[in-house]
This record gives sequence, structure tokens and C-alpha cells, in this order.
Amino acid sequence: MSKREGLVSAEECVALGAVAPALDSYPTRELSLGSLTVFRALPVKDRRLVGPWCFLDRFGPLTFAAGKPMDVAPHPHIGLQTVTWLLDGEVLHDDSLDSEAVLRPGGVNVMTSGGGIAHAEQTPRENIGRLDGVQLWVALPDDQRSGPAAFEHVKEVPLVETSGAAVRVFAGSFGSATSGTTHFSELVGLDVQLHPGRPFEWPLDPRFEHGLLVLSGDCAFMGQALEPRMFHYIGTSRSAAQLSSRAGARVLVIGGPPFAERILMWWNFVARTPEEIADARADWEAGRRFGEVRAYDGPRLSAPSLLQFARANPVS
Ligand code: MN
Repeated sequence: MSKREGLVSAEECVALGAVAPALDSYPTRELSLGSLTVFRALPVKDRRLVGPWCFLDRFGPLTFAAGKPMDVAPHPHIGLQTVTWLLDGEVLHDDSLDSEAVLRPGGVNVMTSGGGIAHAEQTPRENIGRLDGVQLWVALPDDQRSGPAAFEHVKEVPLVETSGAAVRVFAGSFGSATSGTTHFSELVGLDVQLHPGRPFEWPLDPRFEHGLLVLSGDCAFMGQALEPRMFHYIGTSRSAAQLSSRAGARVLVIGGPPFAERILMWWNFVARTPEEIADARADWEAGRRFGEVRAYDGPRLSAPSLLQFARANPVS
């Protein structure tokens, strides 16, 4: 065990520096976290980041007859943006800036931690009884990590109709459409709804690496079937690609230029050194730095022991 590992059981995450097209598929990991079952696509072994995207959880589809509504108590973040995207249902967001928003399908929530923020996410009292979505984190570059915390809610992200697909742009740009949310590295996040039997000709920025997660239906990338519940990495250096579906599908696409920095992830923190993680944990436990989520009725989450491998929250 290295000295670093002895202080904090954090995961070191780094881009692989792919310089070529690839098609590598990784199983997602099923985790039971609180009342939610999630499928974690990032980080996975050997594929820690895709562009600046460092975390991807899929939750649902579920109904509250079979599962429980979401209730993630206040918890802290440093070094990242959270990006929440729904296919079905609602999520109520509250944070220590006193931001409040109900997210619904078609909209996106982006929270920037800056040097520290706390938030809670739960199913609002009025809900349709179902939940389906993804939770993503974007690592902040080093020179932006200590900036102000912020929260953005976009009610309806741009929708681009092509002959093969309806493309919702929840982060970055697609063609002339941009999500309108603030980010600090180049990146893209798309929800691609493939029409049955009509190929989607996908123009890519060759500087970007991309990852794909099939959300529903059947999907092929360049004619090769993509297994569901797997995360598919397609590398860099592509300027065009094709996605297709026999019966229709929804596919999550994330990408960006390979992130140039090595990061450390532990619990809800993205950092560079174990000391930063230890300081952030101590501040949270002592009630410093992160503020209070006043709108949440109930106790906040306690940080795990530093020496414990600490899973991130399901909807973070
Ligand atoms: Mn969170």
C-alpha cells in the first residue's frame, strides 16, 4: 500500500490518452444504494474518465410500487459539476445556496461545486410514481476548482431533429444547438432517440473521445450491436459515425477531449490530493465550508471513514 492509499481509500482516475478509434465495452456495476438500485457505468476499471465526465449512474426505470421514491439527504461536493438528466419522473433539488428546482424530462440540472456546496435530491410530494434517469459528474479543471458554487436549471434543452434521430443536447453543443449550461472544459452530453430503421449519421469532433450507454431499445454502432447494461467506449479520431436501431432506441452519449489531469475520487469529492479530501471531510463533519440545505427536512448524511472505500451517492 502506498503512502497515498494509506491516508484515503480514494480512486485515482486518469484518461487513458486514447489517440485512435476504439470500441471497448465495459459492464456496468449494479449497486444498491439506500432505496435505489443503480447501474454504475463510470468510473470503471481502466476507463476512469471520458473527456471531463468522471461519473455516470443509471437509475430506473422503476415505479414506486416496486421501489421507493428518491430521498438523498444533504451531502457535500468539491471539485465537480453534477449533471442530472431524466427520462421519466421528477427530482426536487435543494442546495446550500438556497436554490430549488423540480427537474422533469427534457430539462437538466447542473450544479457547480466550486470550493464546496451541499445539496439534497428527492422525489417531490407530487409525482407520477415512476423514476428513470442518469446522474453524471464533470471534473472541474484545476484552475476552476476553487471558484464560486452555482446552480443552473434548464427547463427544456435544445432538441435537434435529424432524419435518423431526435437529439437532445443536455451539455455542450450538437450542430448549432447548445445546452446553454455553463461548463469549464469542452464536452458534449446527448440523449439520442433513434428512429426505427433509419440510421443516424453522427458527426463527431475528432479531438473528442466518446462513451455510449444504451438507455432503452436496440442499438448498433457502425453496424455492431451494442449490448445493454454495458458502457461502450469509442475512442478519439472519428469525424463521422453511424448509430442505428431496428425497433427504436435511446442512447446516452458523453464525450470531450481527454482530460489532461489526474483526479482522485472519494465519496462525493473530486480532488487532486488525499489531504484535500481529508480536509473536505473534516469540514463537512464539523459543519464548516459547505453551508446548510435549509429546505431539506431531516438529518444530513455523515461522511464515511477515510480508510473506507466510499461509494458516491446514487443521485449525487
Ligand atoms: Mn450529490
